[in-house]
Amino acid sequence: MLEDKDRIFKNLYNDLGADIGSAKNRGDWSNTKEICSKGRDWIIEEVKKSELRGRGGAGFPTGLKWSFAPKKVGAKPHYLVINADESEPGTCKDRDILRFEPHKLIEGCLIASYAVNAHKCYIYLRGEYYNEGLKLQNAIDEAYKANLIGKNSSGTGWELDIYIHYGAGAYICGEETALLESIEGNKGQPRLKPPFPALVGLYGCPTIINNVETIAVIPTILRKGSKWFASLGKPKNTGTKIFCISGNVNSPCNVEEEMGIKLKDLIEKHAGGVVGGWDNLQAVIPGGSSMPMLSKEISENITMDFDSLVENNSGLGTAGIIVINKDQDIIKCMARIARFYKHESCGQCTPCREGSGWMWRILERMARGEASKDEINMLSDVTKQIEGHTICAFGEGSAWPVQGLLRHFKKEIIERNNFDPLIKNKKNIPYLIDQHLLEEDIKNVKS
Ligand code: SF4
Repeated sequence: MLEDKDRIFKNLYNDLGADIGSAKNRGDWSNTKEICSKGRDWIIEEVKKSELRGRGGAGFPTGLKWSFAPKKVGAKPHYLVINADESEPGTCKDRDILRFEPHKLIEGCLIASYAVNAHKCYIYLRGEYYNEGLKLQNAIDEAYKANLIGKNSSGTGWELDIYIHYGAGAYICGEETALLESIEGNKGQPRLKPPFPALVGLYGCPTIINNVETIAVIPTILRKGSKWFASLGKPKNTGTKIFCISGNVNSPCNVEEEMGIKLKDLIEKHAGGVVGGWDNLQAVIPGGSSMPMLSKEISENITMDFDSLVENNSGLGTAGIIVINKDQDIIKCMARIARFYKHESCGQCTPCREGSGWMWRILERMARGEASKDEINMLSDVTKQIEGHTICAFGEGSAWPVQGLLRHFKKEIIERNNFDPLIKNKKNIPYLIDQHLLEEDIKNVKS
């Protein structure tokens, strides 16, 4: 369990106040000028040494990302953009930073802007976070008034302006290049990469984009040192992380814990346990709805960090943990998630636009017990045709949860749909890829 002395977000539950005075009492803004005076190279090197990986889902090393920004400002200005679009189902960690720890984010914006030579910072806020936006704006106003940001931010001589830009509620605007399009006033559709935003980003200028939590932990890392941060968690999976635990648990919560904590501890010790007890657990989605689910058996011992989850065919994602107990219809749950992705696809790529709808419709049939036998393989095939064949990672995000269902709950699908193992229609169905295996599965279930 994380010790209080190592906790970065001390006001996650708003016991201590979010205003500037309370934030300063917790140590925010205490030596920002000294940190900046150590120089850009030192800041980027420290962030690299801390091994901080982006907290928005992809887990890309933050210091490395910053080092991609051109060292000198050329003809075009540099920008820092904060991704506060937080739309991943099961995820609500940035929300609590925005409303209860806004000064950590604003101070982080100053340090990061300084490190990447940006005088303008945009915070792209999910449109539904209206109240959070008011609180954040209030904190930004407080920081301007105290000269912590503005013409001579915190006495550093660095000029920084921070603007909030509200989104309109499209999930895809959380994808970094769609987010840039949206700020520019265009339809929120992802761009082809390369070029990457670090060189050609907002308005065609060098732009560094980071998640709220990633930026909010920067001041504490630089204050306490990269060694301290790297000493928490596991190698390459360092530091602390805010986990969101929801679904069939007795006390849904957000909690900051050390990376690499056991999933079972998070559920049992922080979220009051599974409704109906641990034995009533059916599956866990570990990182927001786009990550493949884990079976109960895997959930028993797995640790929550990037690498352990990848080894188990899933991912840490946003660390939005959704607990599903045996009272739920797992096929219906996944059909509902597939419907979400079908609705949110921006439609640019055929595999994603069409495939997300196909997956949803097949899953709906499976949930009703009306699917035909070949549709299990067809569904698997559709996920493979989407994965890796689209402009952005939304394609994988829509396909992976379905793959997770097929990996762990094929037996349930077969039982519900009561397939007849004697039907042989292989010849007429070109998309069947492992008919033989499927028939083996069906026989196993029947026996
Ligand atoms: Fe749009 Fe989907 Fe293609 Fe991403 S993968 S660009 S969301 S159609």
